[in-house]
Amino acid sequence: MTKYIFITGGVVSSLGKGIVAASLGKLLRARGFSVINQKFDPYINVDPGTMSPFQHGEVFVTDDGAETDLDLGHYERFTDTNLGKYNNVTSGSVYQHVIEKERRGDYLGATVQVIPHITNEIKSRILGATKQFSPDFQLIEIGGTIGDIESLPFIEAIRQFKAEVGIGNAVSIHCTLLPYLPTSGELKTKPSQHSVNVLRSYGIQPEILVCRTSRAIPKTEKEKLALFCSVSKEAVLECRDMKSIYEVPLAMEEQNMAGVVLKALQVPDKEPDLRNWKKLVEHIKNPKGTITVAIAGKYTKLSDAYISVVESLKHAGYENDVKIEIKWINSEDCIDFKNCKELLKDAQAVVVPGGFGVRGIEGKLNVIRYAREHDLPFLGLCLGMQCAVIEYARNVLGLKDANSKEFDEHPTHPVIDLMLEQKNVQGYGGTMRLGAYDCVLKKGSIAHKAYGKDVISERHRHRYEVNNEYIKQLSDAGLVFSGMSPDGMLAEIVELPKLKWFVASQFHPEFKSRPERPHPLFKGLIKAALKVRI
Ligand code: GLN
Repeated sequence: MTKYIFITGGVVSSLGKGIVAASLGKLLRARGFSVINQKFDPYINVDPGTMSPFQHGEVFVTDDGAETDLDLGHYERFTDTNLGKYNNVTSGSVYQHVIEKERRGDYLGATVQVIPHITNEIKSRILGATKQFSPDFQLIEIGGTIGDIESLPFIEAIRQFKAEVGIGNAVSIHCTLLPYLPTSGELKTKPSQHSVNVLRSYGIQPEILVCRTSRAIPKTEKEKLALFCSVSKEAVLECRDMKSIYEVPLAMEEQNMAGVVLKALQVPDKEPDLRNWKKLVEHIKNPKGTITVAIAGKYTKLSDAYISVVESLKHAGYENDVKIEIKWINSEDCIDFKNCKELLKDAQAVVVPGGFGVRGIEGKLNVIRYAREHDLPFLGLCLGMQCAVIEYARNVLGLKDANSKEFDEHPTHPVIDLMLEQKNVQGYGGTMRLGAYDCVLKKGSIAHKAYGKDVISERHRHRYEVNNEYIKQLSDAGLVFSGMSPDGMLAEIVELPKLKWFVASQFHPEFKSRPERPHPLFKGLIKAALKVRI
């Protein structure tokens, strides 16, 4: 029978609940249990796919094509589990479903209300994921901060759910912040006490407290928290700021987090196997050098907008024993080629990530031109690949106004065009080409060597594609199409084999990199970057 672990947050937002949930998932996985993580987001958007990366960070895409919260990326990376559309639930999707049912007449004349109809729908999303995965443990993180008006139906659903499954089958972990007051030299517990009081007022008594803190929590303060919040002393866990998020599971293991959770859930503990993870952290802590990788995009003011790209670069760095330094470059600053050169001169590799819209495109094209002309290792992701094709068409083939129809409705040479299946699509929510598709690799190509496989499966999120009418011309001019869809109709990877590393993909490899298993395309990029002296 599946056991449930609910994770809420209090005092402030951005506490790192996602990392705590992912870390506990890792610790349970290390004990041989099967685990899935689920994220409940109280906003009204049906999914985050329509939200600006500036507001919400990256949109993470699962194999089954769900556009989800970036925490799902952490869950997948920490627990090495592939999640799907049942793992991210928003208020918008819950209300949408309930209102559809009401319009169909499914409620037979009843007044449709938050309790029980919305809370029932939330509980059925919990059970839906249980049914799909049958995990030993299901970890459910509720976004937002306790006391927010919009998360109330989720909290009420948890209260009901906990009562229904009974003691020993569900526990609550509440994450809070202990602020440090430098004038008195103290960590303060009062905001956490108040936060637990609010949670209790909704009928939920947490069994475990995870306290974010910048320094060690003195024993007396732990005892105070245990006393006022009605949790056992061993269940007051300290979550210190760490240099790397991948250190968190080990720090939590030292405090026996999984043991405390298992005890509350009446499951006998097991010896964890964290050998590989410990090795990983050793590599993270002892890099032998630093590699500077530029990321040229338009959402560079918020690094969360490219979080999977950054994590994938780091994973490839760990394997090569180097620390990855990210140099953020706003693509608009590269519209002037001289400036672009200046910005890239101290980078050992450059990534042009995914994106939408025309702003900054000419700058991205300059970045790619610089990488191609100076043999600076380059990885293009989705829009980055489309830009690589435009740049090659313009500057090598000489098709001066080659462009994507996303940026110019009537270019003379539409080398990137809207996909046929997208031509009649209406609306923006969930309508792109999404999720995992197979790709066949060209024998002997760089991509083929990197993957060591003939057929790969990668995740997508796009509306545009390389226009097949230009593939012959581009290939004759030296651009190698090293990955194609199985029917040969969609260009998935382009590369320039004579350069150290010039590879770009229509798909998003960053969604499949794992700390213990870096992605081949990122590994290749960093390996090539090691050869670049600056
Ligand atoms: N805007 C491009 C498209 O829709 C690329 C999308 C992306 O980078 N995810 O095809």
